[in-house]
Amino acid sequence: MIDQTSRDVLRCHSVADVVQALDYAAATGRRVVPRGGGHCFVDRCPADGIVADLSGMDRIMVDESGIATIGAGARLGPVYAALHERGRTIPAGCGDTVGIAGLTLGGGIGLLGRQYGLTCDRLVGAQVVLADRSVVECSEHRETDLFWALRGVGGGQFGIVTELRFATVPEPSVCRIEGTWTDGNLVQTWQDWAPDAPDGLTVNLAVQAGRVTLFGISTLPPTETEGLLREFTARAGVLYAIDIRLDVPYSMVKPTFSVVDPAPETRRVRSEFFARTLSERTAGELLRGLGGNRRLAFTAMGGAYNRVAEEDTAFAHRGERYLLEQAGDPGDPWVDEAWTVAHAEGSGRVYPNFPDLALDDPSRAYHAGNRARLAAVKKSVDPQRLFDFPQAL
Ligand SMILES: Cc1cc2nc3c(=O)[nH]c(=O)nc-3n(C[C@H](O)[C@H](O)[C@H](O)COP(=O)(O)OP(=O)(O)OC[C@H]3O[C@@H](n4cnc5c(N)ncnc54)[C@H](O)[C@@H]3O)c2cc1C
Repeated sequence: MIDQTSRDVLRCHSVADVVQALDYAAATGRRVVPRGGGHCFVDRCPADGIVADLSGMDRIMVDESGIATIGAGARLGPVYAALHERGRTIPAGCGDTVGIAGLTLGGGIGLLGRQYGLTCDRLVGAQVVLADRSVVECSEHRETDLFWALRGVGGGQFGIVTELRFATVPEPSVCRIEGTWTDGNLVQTWQDWAPDAPDGLTVNLAVQAGRVTLFGISTLPPTETEGLLREFTARAGVLYAIDIRLDVPYSMVKPTFSVVDPAPETRRVRSEFFARTLSERTAGELLRGLGGNRRLAFTAMGGAYNRVAEEDTAFAHRGERYLLEQAGDPGDPWVDEAWTVAHAEGSGRVYPNFPDLALDDPSRAYHAGNRARLAAVKKSVDPQRLFDFPQAL
């Protein structure tokens, strides 16, 4: 989303190229910012900075034991397609052009996450070029502090990741779910219900232009899926008007949601995690402010996301029920107003992959109780702060 045309861009095709890029940055005293899929919500590269573009490092291999080794420049579309060829997948995000590295380093929320956890929860190893130009392998057994920190800290903090290794899961055939209503009451029912649904059912909710859209997937048997969705519509007091499409390979389902869940390319997005249902008053105020391009999006958490302890990985947000995004045209004051209204009932925690320059205490919001340990890792691997940007550790 960021115009990087005025910056020096070094295109890296190998680990040696990455080392050279860091040599160049150190020699010229300029900051270096790695780029994977280029989807970061904010501009982290100073005007005289150097972008290390890793898109040339996008090899994807899967071994017999189901471990996928993925170059840090790969994007999700090719990752899903290559894993699909082997009948495998990973729980990862939805945008085909999102980079695997940026997504994983900040967590990685997606339609299989309630069943298998964050993308970073499937990470078993990574290769990283550190500020001193050393190339390190990290895993549960090597460079364990760095490995802990990479799983959820957010991109660009400690070095340039060149390769990621994941424990893949069998690719499921899923039920694709979509239903649209005009009744705002669904919002309250969804909050009480979706985060507690069985792990195999992930349904998110978007509200825009007077329409409330439920969309997601289920890996449960179709009859069980339909039963659960009927329970939801009965509780909400609306007609059962849900389209279920059977047997869609997981890797193929996301593009089918491009209309109900559009990429936020031209919108400003603010967000926060919530551990409780919004009060009727707050929900009503949020809904009343909607119109035009203004959008509220609720993403269900719970399930496997919350079965990892807060201190087990750098991703600290393990007790949340849902993520709420407020999106609107850039310059629309409603985005800040709606965020402030909802924030009064929020957890004060923000997803590191949705960076927000308006936060008062970003470090607390992104890292909560993991801040001190993350700061210690930063000090040990990047004492000169070669990797630095607003809101960095
Ligand atoms: C259209 C769209 C759809 C999205 N969908 C989802 C979704 O479904 N689920 C979800 O969880 N999030 C989603 N996001 C948010 C996404 O996870 C973040 O924007 C993520 O940071 C993007 O990573 P990237 O590699 O594409 O971006 P980049 O801008 O390339 O990188 C993001 C950050 O990571 C750093 N970085 C990149 N590569 C490396 C590397 N190799 N080593 C170290 N640091 C690196 C960058 O310097 C930057 O700070 C979406 C965003 C967009 C714009």
